[in-house]
Amino acid sequence: MEAAEQLRFDREHIWHPYTSIDNPLEVFLVESAEGVRIRLHDGRELIDGMASWWSVIHGYNNPHLTKVVQDQAAKLAHVMFGGLTHQPAIQLAQLLIANTPAGLERVFFCDSGSVAVEVAMKMAIQYNYAKGISGKNRFLTIKAGYHGDTFHAMSVCDPVSGMHQIYQGILPEYFFADMPRCRFAGDWDEADVLSLEKLLEENHSTICAVILEPIVQGAGGMRFYHPQYLRRARELCDTYQVLLIADEIATGFGRSGELFACNHASISPDILCLGKALTGGYMTLAAVLATAEVGHVISRGEPSVFMHGPTFMANPLACSVAVASIELLLASDWQSNIGRIEAELKKGLEPCGPLAGVKEVRVLGAIGVVELDRPVNMARIQQRFVDNGVWVRPFGRLVYVMPSYIIDNQDLGFLTGAICRVVEAELSV
Ligand SMILES: *Cc1c(COP(=O)(O)O)cnc(C)c1O
Repeated sequence: MEAAEQLRFDREHIWHPYTSIDNPLEVFLVESAEGVRIRLHDGRELIDGMASWWSVIHGYNNPHLTKVVQDQAAKLAHVMFGGLTHQPAIQLAQLLIANTPAGLERVFFCDSGSVAVEVAMKMAIQYNYAKGISGKNRFLTIKAGYHGDTFHAMSVCDPVSGMHQIYQGILPEYFFADMPRCRFAGDWDEADVLSLEKLLEENHSTICAVILEPIVQGAGGMRFYHPQYLRRARELCDTYQVLLIADEIATGFGRSGELFACNHASISPDILCLGKALTGGYMTLAAVLATAEVGHVISRGEPSVFMHGPTFMANPLACSVAVASIELLLASDWQSNIGRIEAELKKGLEPCGPLAGVKEVRVLGAIGVVELDRPVNMARIQQRFVDNGVWVRPFGRLVYVMPSYIIDNQDLGFLTGAICRVVEAELSV
């Protein structure tokens, strides 16, 4: 099939994320990708700013990771996890337990971030059920969050941007604390946590867990909040005997400058969700880690088992490449590398700051955000980015990048330069 024909078929038959099937936005046909470059079918090359939504941390087609997948495919591509186990899953669990915040030592593998959130929420409900505490089965989260697209994950996404009104009567209605206002590197104000505290004080007997994205609120607004908020959330959860679920699906594996964003506040959650960068972007895989206590309570009470078990649980291809990706990351000087990317993003995006129509430029770790005062025209800005030789996919008022960690300063300069030009053009329409 010719490229034009393929694209026509795609336009007429295939749904892309958050798009209309009748009036789709243009999509670009990718031929291959290498390092930080995405090659389109017509030979154009784009410098990638998105790492395919946080996940491709070592760049595309990393020779070592590709070989690990190939070797594993030749040995054991998949086997059911009910009653069977395998070295890739065991090795991955060991690595996760050793490197995530202290105390997390029971691992549940699943297929995607949204399912990991479902699993974490089910754990929190089963934990209280097993304890014989009735009615402690609701959730508290913070506004402007994002936790995925399945039903219960959706129920703890921001109610406005998550369009909860569509699902009224079907979607459970949970507690939403005001979003943290104190910035990551700003001053701390205890008033920031009052909304969370009040909701817990008044409703803790019905709340089984607080679920939040530590430090970085991702797809719900790309905001970086104060570590003291997270410390206070941990304390309040302890005070009111509510579990803390940390959704590090976006932030895990170094993205925010710490290996896990919880480390900024030196706290451990009771349950941790990982996904996205877990396999270096090679395969879909997610993991939920829980404390021994959560594991024991669930297993000792009724029904004495955790009620979940996906068909492709702990897929060996995904586990083996996750092991290789984590080892690659830990063997590198990742922390100073993320510091380098942070400094370059700050320098490169700074010229956007004074532009009329730019609300704020902010950078944390390998995440750069240009927040505008109005939503972008997606079709127009997407084409402009491609014309400028970069792959950046904004949403709403947010133009943001989270490049692969292997991006060098020259490519980073090219990327941020393109962002400044495109943002300026977009704002001058
Ligand atoms: C992406 C994301 C999810 C959902 O993960 P999927 O793999 O897309 O289902 C959940 N939580 C956070 C914080 C995310 O960034």
